[in-house]
Amino acid sequence: MVGLAKSGRAAAVLLRDLGWDVVAVDSAPVEAPDLLSAGIEVRAPSDEPVTADLVVRSPGVPREFAPLAAAYANGTPVWSEIELASRAMSNPIMGVTGTNGKTTTTELLAHLLREGGLDAVACGNVGTPMASLAGEVSGNTWLVAECSSFQLEDIPTFRPHAAVLLNVTPDHMDRYPDFAAYRQAKLNLFAHQEPGDLAILPEDMESTGAAPARRVVASGAPGPDAVSWAEGGLHVLGLGLVADWSDIPLLGAHNRENVMAASAMAAHAGLGAQEIARGLATFPGVAHRLEVVGTAGGVTFVNDSKATNPAAAIAALDAYPQRVRLIAGGSSKGTPFEALARAAQGAVVHAYLIGETGPEIARALEAEKVEWTLLPDLPTAVSQAAAEASSGDVVLLAPACASFDQFSGYEHRGEVFRESAREAGAG
Ligand code: ADP
Repeated sequence: MVGLAKSGRAAAVLLRDLGWDVVAVDSAPVEAPDLLSAGIEVRAPSDEPVTADLVVRSPGVPREFAPLAAAYANGTPVWSEIELASRAMSNPIMGVTGTNGKTTTTELLAHLLREGGLDAVACGNVGTPMASLAGEVSGNTWLVAECSSFQLEDIPTFRPHAAVLLNVTPDHMDRYPDFAAYRQAKLNLFAHQEPGDLAILPEDMESTGAAPARRVVASGAPGPDAVSWAEGGLHVLGLGLVADWSDIPLLGAHNRENVMAASAMAAHAGLGAQEIARGLATFPGVAHRLEVVGTAGGVTFVNDSKATNPAAAIAALDAYPQRVRLIAGGSSKGTPFEALARAAQGAVVHAYLIGETGPEIARALEAEKVEWTLLPDLPTAVSQAAAEASSGDVVLLAPACASFDQFSGYEHRGEVFRESAREAGAG
């Protein structure tokens, strides 16, 4: 087992439960009493190759890490954690991937299935490793797996009965040689599907497996391959009109795509229009994704800390036609900011820039004549934006960047935003 964060540990324990002799390796020192007591040999820190019949890889580990690189070089089978988990369980699986919208769609889909009377659990990238569910859930529980591109490498048999690739835009360019490699990893999701499975892909992409590509059509008339479309309300193939958009609380054009994909997948699992409509109406949303944290003097404070790349921040701007005071910047993932600057033009009255990428975003905004100020940290940015805002404005945290330069993660950044908004009077 290579990589001992959450999913790596779950996979190591599962391997042991399946009867394997397990050696668990990580480049960093790891406290793992649970692994030791399960009879697993822990080598951490270590970057020594291990002689093994099978290497299971946790998604956080880069291909270049010596024990993994050695396995690829000498032909040892390498499985990702979801490959192992899906082999160990006979449950029906749904897979969700994409650059943006994964967690929202995964949580929404699991919610729809549960509201429709099925057993369903969200797992994968959302925080519960699929491997940790082995032996814990009944065999007919739907596993709704959020899959990052890293989890979709090394999956020789992984087969979701319904799968969606929501979108692919540049992200994680620090981990892939080029955009094509990142895109290809995402397409692996479909590779082992069978003809009756559901495969939903963006307009310009074809499935890599036996299920034909279906589309969600967010604007315009549906083509012959449409499985869900937005014109005149939410339509799902085979179910007709499911709901009016005004009855669906998730905001923003991007969320329409997420809603359409989740609804089509729920229909694939057998749900009817009314069950889906009820689930859509009762979905509480997901924290740190376009989450309204409060208002003060007519100014709305919105936490979209999970907008960790430019495309997500652009989607957030689309959701708010009001005057936006945008707080952006953070640690760099090598993505360009020109498209964000173009989207900000006309929509953003002022940008408050923080973190490592602040100066780079400032240059991009300058070219589009969007006003900006560089600030040392998030609390200062919130208090300045709040002081300059007038009634009707939206103070939007949509950083377009990762958070690790100033925070422990996007949740931490979102909490700091929430606290700062409260200090500015938001409630
Ligand atoms: P992920 O798990 O893929 O990071 P989330 O559901 O957590 O996706 O959403 C992350 C951010 O991406 C949201 O805060 C929102 O701004 C944006 N977003 C959500 N859905 C989409 C979509 N379908 N297309 C583009 N951007 C989206």
